[in-house]
Amino acid sequence: MTGRSIRVRGLVQGVGFRPYVWRLANELGLNGWVRNDGAGVSIAVGGKKLAEFLERLPNEAPRLARVDGIKVLEAEVSESGFAILESVAGDISTAIGPDAAICPECIADICDPNNRRWRYAFTTCTHCGPRYTVSRRIPYDRAQTSLAAFPLCPPCGAEYSAAVDRRFHAETTCCPDCGPQLSLLDAAGTQMLGDPVAETLRLLRDGKIVAIKGLGGFHLACDARDAVAIAELRERKQREEKPLAVMALNAASLQDYARIGPVELVLLKSAAAPIVLCPKAETQLSGIAPGLAWLGVMLPATPLHLLLWHEAAGQPAGTDWLAQPNDLLLVMTSANPHGEPLVIDNDEAVERLTGIADAFLLHDREIVVRCDDSVVRAGPAFIRRARGYVPLPIPLASGGPSVLALGGFLKNTVCVMKGREAFLSQHIGGLDNAAAIGFLEETVAHLLAILDVKPDLIAHDLHPDFASTHLALRLADEWGIPALAVGHHHAHIAAICAEHGVNEPVIGLAIDGVGLGPDGGLWGGELLRVDGNDCQRLGHLKTLALPGGDRAAREPWRMAVSALYGAGMEYRIGGWLKQYYPKRDAAPLLIMLSRNLRCPPTSSLGRWFDAAAGLLGLRDEAQYEGQAAMELEGLAARHGPVEPVVGGYRLSDQHELDFSPMLLALLACPDAALGAAQFHATVAAGLAEWLIAAVDREKVAKIVVGGGCAMNAVLMSALSRQLKAAGLTQFEAQQAPPNDGGLALGQAWLARRSFRSQ
Ligand SMILES: [Zn+2]
Ligand SMILES: [Zn+2]
Repeated sequence: MTGRSIRVRGLVQGVGFRPYVWRLANELGLNGWVRNDGAGVSIAVGGKKLAEFLERLPNEAPRLARVDGIKVLEAEVSESGFAILESVAGDISTAIGPDAAICPECIADICDPNNRRWRYAFTTCTHCGPRYTVSRRIPYDRAQTSLAAFPLCPPCGAEYSAAVDRRFHAETTCCPDCGPQLSLLDAAGTQMLGDPVAETLRLLRDGKIVAIKGLGGFHLACDARDAVAIAELRERKQREEKPLAVMALNAASLQDYARIGPVELVLLKSAAAPIVLCPKAETQLSGIAPGLAWLGVMLPATPLHLLLWHEAAGQPAGTDWLAQPNDLLLVMTSANPHGEPLVIDNDEAVERLTGIADAFLLHDREIVVRCDDSVVRAGPAFIRRARGYVPLPIPLASGGPSVLALGGFLKNTVCVMKGREAFLSQHIGGLDNAAAIGFLEETVAHLLAILDVKPDLIAHDLHPDFASTHLALRLADEWGIPALAVGHHHAHIAAICAEHGVNEPVIGLAIDGVGLGPDGGLWGGELLRVDGNDCQRLGHLKTLALPGGDRAAREPWRMAVSALYGAGMEYRIGGWLKQYYPKRDAAPLLIMLSRNLRCPPTSSLGRWFDAAAGLLGLRDEAQYEGQAAMELEGLAARHGPVEPVVGGYRLSDQHELDFSPMLLALLACPDAALGAAQFHATVAAGLAEWLIAAVDREKVAKIVVGGGCAMNAVLMSALSRQLKAAGLTQFEAQQAPPNDGGLALGQAWLARRSFRSQ
C-alpha cells in the first residue's frame, strides 16, 4: 500500500506529539507508526484519509508543540493498525521547555469529583505544568527534576508508560497518592488545621497577606479589593508606590478595571500566562497601580492558583464556572524583600518573610530555579521576560561560536548563544546586593548546564565596576577564553539586530536611562551608526547636568531645575518652585550648577522625562526607577495625542538634539496631562526629524530603536507614525525586552561577530 513518510521538525519532543499523532491516525483509520528520532518526529502512514491527516497534522498539534517544518515523501506502508515505536537511540532532543499554564484537559480533571485528581494542586500532563523551574540538568527526565523525590504510584506509572495517554512520558506527572502535598503555616511557622486551600481563601477574604509558593518562587497575595490590606502589604514590603499585579479568574471578572482587547486576551490565555499590561478602565482598584495608565493582570496558571477560585465558586463540579465572572481578585506580587531575588524555599520563606506574611501556603515540591512572572504588553513587547518564555530560544539568522554574555547592572539577564539560537535567561534583577549577584552566578551555571554549552567567548558591559563584568572576567580567566567589553548603547541596538537578523549597517536610536559610553561619558540619548562591531556616534541629546549625581535621577525636581538652568531660564526657577514644591530650596543646586560641582552631564532621554515630570509638578521624588517617566506616559495616554510644541526642539548641525525650547511652553501649560502629551509629541517629532536626516545623510535605510524609553508606548507610536509618513519603518525589540533586560542578547551577538573577525 502506498503511503507517506513524514518528518516533523521543531519543538515536537516531550510535548505529547506522539500520542497526538496516534490519536489522529486512529481517528482517521490509518495504518503505520510514529517515533522520536534525532531530527524530531518521524511518521509512516497510509490509508484512505491520508490527505485529511496531512492537512490536520500541523493545525491540531499539541499546545506546547511548535512545528517548524514538515517534509512528506511517498513510501510503502505495510503495517496494519497504528503504533508508537521505541525512540531511535542516539541524539534525541532533550531540551527543557518553559513552564506552561495548566491545560484544559487537566482543568477538567481537577474539576471532576469522580476523577482521582479532583482538586489536586499538582495535576499536570505533557501539555502543561512546570519544566524549567523543576529541572536540575539535562536530559529532561523525571530523575533530573524535583519530582524525582516522588516515585510514581501504579496508576500514575501506567499512564506514564501508556503510549496513547496524555501523560505518556509526562515527566512531572503525579497524583494525590504519590505526588507533592500542600500545607498551610501561620505567621510563626506552625502548621494550621483544615484544608489549606479553603483556609487560605478564608484568610485572604479576611484581609490577611498570604505567601503562596508558585512555580518559580513565592508570591505575596492579598485581596485586591481590600484597600486596607493593600496598604498594609505596601507598608510591610516597603513597596510604597510600585505597581502591583492582579490575578483574576478570567477577563470577564476584570472588565470594570482593565480594557482587555483581543491581543491582550490571547496573551493572558497563552501557555506562558504572563502578566499583561492593559489600559485601565473607568473603575480604579485603589492602591494597585497609582498614577499609571496601565494595570498588570494575569490569570491563574497553576492548578494551585486555580483551586483558590474553585473554592471561591463553591467547589463546583465540571468546568462551566470557569466562564462566569468571579468576584475574587487577588494581588499577586513577587516575594522578594529588599529588592533581593525571589524567595523559593519553604524555610527561607518563613525566615525572610517574617513580619510580611500572615500565613504561608506551601508545598513540598522543590523549586530548582527562581523565575519571576513575565510582564508583557500588547504589541507584543516584553517588559520582563521570565516564567513561561525561558528557556525558549530566540532564533538567529546564522550560527557561530558559543558565547556567554553577562549583561549590565539593572534588570539584568544573561544570554547564551549556541548554534543558530540565543537563550536569554530569566530576569535576574538589579545587581546591587550580594543575593542578586549569587543568583547571577547560579543562573549562569544552570543555563550552561541545561544547554550543555562550553563558551568560546564571554561578553560583558564596558563598565568596569559592575558585578556582571567582574564575573565575566573571572570566568574568562578560569576557562582561558577571551572576554569582550561592549558599550551599553551599542548592545541595545545590536540586540534588536540579532532578533531581526539585520546584518547590514543601521541607524540606531538608543533612548535610555544612563549608561556608560566608550568616551567615559554618561550616555542615554544616542544617534548611532551601527555596522556590526563598528559603532559610530552620529549625535546625542543636549546634555543635562545631574546636580548631586545619582540623586538627581531619583529626584525629578532636581532635573527640572537643571533643565531650566541649562536653558538659561534661571530667573523662572524661583516662581516655579514656589508653585509646585514650596518646601524645596534650589539655592544649593544653583551653586553646584554654576560652579559645575558634582554635576556630571548626561545625554540620557530618561532624564529629560524626569525633568518634564518635575517641571509639570508630577512629583519631586521618585519611589522607584522610571516612576516619573511612567506617570508622565500615563497622563499623556489619558489625554490623547496632541500637536508638538511649535519650535519645541532644536537640531544643531544635525548633531545635537535639544528639547530646551519647549520648556517655556511646559511652564506655561495650565494642565499637567496636556503638558505630558505635548512633551511626548515634541520628543517624538524631534527624534523623527533627527532619524530621517541621518538616514538621508548616511545612505542607510534601516532604523533600529531600543533602550528603556522604547517601552513608552505613547512615544513609540507617535515616533513610528512620523517615520511611516516619511516612508520609513523602525525595527523594535519584540522577543526580548528593549530595556537593559535585553542587553546580554546584543552583547552576545557582537561578541560572535568580533570572534569571526579575529
Ligand atoms: Zn495538562
Ligand atoms: Zn500517583
